[in-house]
Amino acid sequence: MGIEEAPSGILLTSLEKFVGLSRKASMWPVTFGLACCAIEMMATGTSRFDISRFGMEVFRASPRQADLMIVAGRVSQKMAPVVRQVYDQMSEPKWVLSMGVCASSGGMFNNYALVQGVDHIVPVDIYLPGCPPRPEMLLNAILALHEQVRQSPFGVNREAAVRAAEEAALAA
Ligand code: SF4
Repeated sequence: MGIEEAPSGILLTSLEKFVGLSRKASMWPVTFGLACCAIEMMATGTSRFDISRFGMEVFRASPRQADLMIVAGRVSQKMAPVVRQVYDQMSEPKWVLSMGVCASSGGMFNNYALVQGVDHIVPVDIYLPGCPPRPEMLLNAILALHEQVRQSPFGVNREAAVRAAEEAALAA
């Protein structure tokens, strides 16, 4: 079947699937930890839990070389602009995983010093509960995120899409 005879969009769809599979198989987390949850994140990179099975063994020190931010721990008000700056320096497409109850909602730290959820600063793709979540839980969240990455379409402003989904959920 020639290209002219192919159903409209079939080539782009196949390319999107291929790129989605490639992206999920090779994610690069930014080296980044805020509090106690980061200890479990670091443990996930050790030989016992072996995050490299999922194509993610290299944590990058430069945000420009990373496409995944794992927010591991509570976010202080002073750290908030830094978190946003690191996010802004990562190149598109990029994803955010909020690890632990503190990063997701402030947790037990309901006070003026801490941001009550990192989604006030950056768009979050997946939330992981727990205090702290064990490495197995982080791996499970990463696999769920991989599924999102695999299905991500081309050319979408992801930050706007995440915000729209949050607003739709609030309105429902
Ligand atoms: Fe620490 Fe628990 Fe908060 Fe994680 S969720 S940063 S382990 S207090």
